[in-house]
Amino acid sequence: MKVLIIGGGGREHALAWKVAQESRVTQVFVAPGNAGTVAERKVVNIDIAAEDVHALADFAESNRIDLTIVGPEGPLVLGLVDEFERRRLKCFGPRAAAARLEGSKAFAKDFLRRHRIPTASYKFFTRETFDPEYIRRQRTPIVVKASGLAAGKGVVIAESIDAAIATALRMFGGQFGPAGDEVVIEEFLQGEEASFIVMADGKNVLPLATSQDHKRLKDDDEGPNTGGMGAYSPAPVVTPQVHRRIMNEVISPAIRGLAADGLPYTGFLYAGIMVAADGTPNVLEFNCRFGDPETQPILLRLQSDLTLLCEAALAGRLDSVTVQWDNRTALGVVMATAGYPQSVRKGEVIEGLERAAQLPGKVFHAGTQLAAGKVITNGGRVLCAVGLGDSVGDAHRATYALVDSINWAGVQYRRDIGHRAISREIGG
Ligand code: AMP
Repeated sequence: MKVLIIGGGGREHALAWKVAQESRVTQVFVAPGNAGTVAERKVVNIDIAAEDVHALADFAESNRIDLTIVGPEGPLVLGLVDEFERRRLKCFGPRAAAARLEGSKAFAKDFLRRHRIPTASYKFFTRETFDPEYIRRQRTPIVVKASGLAAGKGVVIAESIDAAIATALRMFGGQFGPAGDEVVIEEFLQGEEASFIVMADGKNVLPLATSQDHKRLKDDDEGPNTGGMGAYSPAPVVTPQVHRRIMNEVISPAIRGLAADGLPYTGFLYAGIMVAADGTPNVLEFNCRFGDPETQPILLRLQSDLTLLCEAALAGRLDSVTVQWDNRTALGVVMATAGYPQSVRKGEVIEGLERAAQLPGKVFHAGTQLAAGKVITNGGRVLCAVGLGDSVGDAHRATYALVDSINWAGVQYRRDIGHRAISREIGG
């Protein structure tokens, strides 16, 4: 079986690494991939951008690809799955109309309200309808979000009313390009976040292992929001009871609601959930794809064949499959370049990858490139090192052994990934 993975980040390296290990898979193509994907056995990078929908469909057609898995949201929002379906090519992901759940926060919030799925109260504005008086009537902190896609960075938690108004004005002024044409002003929710990712086949749902992401740049959850600086799986905040509530109050009504709205959802569906102290789940956001960096630790724990799960989903048979997990905790730490998330320093030579490859765990590449036989930085988030352990503390030690063996000029990463779960373990 030949598989095509679309994208070139850490999530796609993990997807390619996982499917390449499956005995039924003979070859994996990654478009465009990175220096990590091309180093995997059975894996070939192809030089087509993830958003070049027609070139990708041409490639899949002429190379008789049996299954395509889409990593990032961009090509989904652009209609990649619609185009593959038109050509009768098997492709796991939602159609463009359903991917709007991520592509437009305004659409997502209206969807949540319409289907009575719990979420923070909100109001959205365009530059023309913006009313600073509305913000003045709210409590702080208050959340200001660009409605469109902004690579996870278009969310600002404002501590004061003036800061919230200034942030909204900056978004309308084009700070995030067209993503900021519409801005959502949202109530700030208290609690602990979890990433709840499922596979869906239009009707049935297969929940994947839970995880927790760390969005802030710096230790102690300080600094700006990023695409994600680390993640671990499972997330202890999702107790069996919270798991049931998320399935009953969020996931099932969302999949039913999408089908009822004429947008049957096939693909990975990611719900970012704020779990309140009493276990009540509220949806922070939906993503129409697997998380990055959650994919990396989750796939390190997945023992079942991912291609079988995707095929079952494409056949509408997810109710007939089961999934096996490694019981250990997997913990991933993102190593980023100097300047991330505002800017990117490319071209720094990465040292220590061979040393890390001798250690237990796995280093997934994201923004990396091969140049003259060396691996160099080529994006903001460069690597995600993932270790396994019987406790979160053990996984943390295994992962930081990998991180400590790797270096380049200006590397930055958090030292406290998993801190909430670790303090639970030590009773803190
Ligand atoms: P989003 O892209 O909407 O998930 O927002 C990115 C991050 O901002 C989330 O993972 C949360 O950490 C934070 N956030 C977003 N919305 C809220 C909210 N209503 N209350 C508290 N934190 C939020």
